[in-house]
Amino acid sequence: MNDIQYRLPQKRALVTELPGPKSAALTARRRATVAAGVGSSVPVYAADADGGVVVDVDGNSLIDLGSGIAVTSVGASDPAVAEAVREQVGHFTHTCFMVTPYEGYVRVAEELAALTPGDHEKRTVLFNSGAEAVENAIKVARLATGRDAVVAFDHAYHGRTNLTMALTAKSMPYKAHFGPFAPEVYRLPMSYPYRDQDGLTGEQAAQRAISQMEKQIGADSLAAIIIEPIQGEGGFIVPAEGFLPTLVNWARANGVVFIADEVQTGFSRTGAWFACEHEEIVPDIITMAKGMAGGMPLSAITGRADLLDKVHPGGLGGTYGGNPVACAAALAAIDSMRKFDLPARAQHIGDLALPRLKALAADVGVIGDVRGRGAMLAMEFVKPGTDEPDAELTKAIAAHALEQGVILLTCGTYGNVIRLLPPLVISDDLLDDALTVIEQIVRSLV
Ligand SMILES: *Cc1c(COP(=O)(O)O)cnc(C)c1O
Repeated sequence: MNDIQYRLPQKRALVTELPGPKSAALTARRRATVAAGVGSSVPVYAADADGGVVVDVDGNSLIDLGSGIAVTSVGASDPAVAEAVREQVGHFTHTCFMVTPYEGYVRVAEELAALTPGDHEKRTVLFNSGAEAVENAIKVARLATGRDAVVAFDHAYHGRTNLTMALTAKSMPYKAHFGPFAPEVYRLPMSYPYRDQDGLTGEQAAQRAISQMEKQIGADSLAAIIIEPIQGEGGFIVPAEGFLPTLVNWARANGVVFIADEVQTGFSRTGAWFACEHEEIVPDIITMAKGMAGGMPLSAITGRADLLDKVHPGGLGGTYGGNPVACAAALAAIDSMRKFDLPARAQHIGDLALPRLKALAADVGVIGDVRGRGAMLAMEFVKPGTDEPDAELTKAIAAHALEQGVILLTCGTYGNVIRLLPPLVISDDLLDDALTVIEQIVRSLV
């Protein structure tokens, strides 16, 4: 950690009320031009960002506990990423890998083969967004198996395109009135230790899903199971131990492609390069995006060579997929993750934060569950003495945090989860300050 160089002062410093006048003016301009369907978590406009801070257009320095939704793990202006991008744009910004290929794409594929779980022969395809990676993982699974059905889980989030909306669980705001959705998607119960009946083990929760796959879908109709090893937007739900390995074993025995959607959990976030490693599962295909390229848009699927290579030439791709600037950024970001040992750094963040969140939960009586791995942490808020979700309180906490200069995101099917996703390069002092703010706010509101 000592080596991390920060360009901006790593401190929380407010010089106006939030939002300040320049942000408020931008909000007014935005209302006149940007579609209302695009939301923003906070009404402040970014001017600069580095390490654990975002500086807004009014000069306020805010602590970033969102990383632009788990993207800027190496920071939003990692000098190595910035230099790699500058270097690449000075040569070429685009040729299209499907027209004139280039080495950066191949190097990213080599890195992903080495970093992703399993030592089998692998192949990679690059895209731009997480949703696009998910769509293509399903395309490959359907073609390779000759089957149609796909299983996704309660609380799942896989994106906003038509097929990925079908895979996503939550109606409002992601799906409502945007149908009809892609067919042959089946939703099964997830393992959700806090809300499952007491004592339901991971194996039992998996058997509940397996029974439905066998009885309602038919294993030989099923192309793929897609699951986030730790669910993201759905509430940072960590399934009970044994759930994922049981599903993987069943999938393997039945010729079903197991797709791990690591778009949010991948690239060091959970204290390992990939969350699958915590239970030593090896997916057939893994989808990746958010943390991968230091903030540049890049996504990937990496999977078993025998599955990926079944697809005919031209069947996979896209104009911008694996853009050379994004590839250069990814290679630099991966170097930084190695150089600063960001998986260990994520674990360290969890070790600092988790005990404090648990102590807070023990004190206040409105935090039903504290969970997560590494730097992917969450608190689930409930009405006192019940497990009834308290979305109002959750919203109020995030709003008060912003007033104090901390960017805090919510999530969850019931909107009652506060999630912590700091850049992995955040300093201990800054993290400590943010946690103190959160503790004070929660205590003051209950
Ligand atoms: C964010 C996310 C997606 C969608 O990624 P986009 O880049 O927004 O399309 C898919 N899966 C998971 C698990 C995600 O967290």
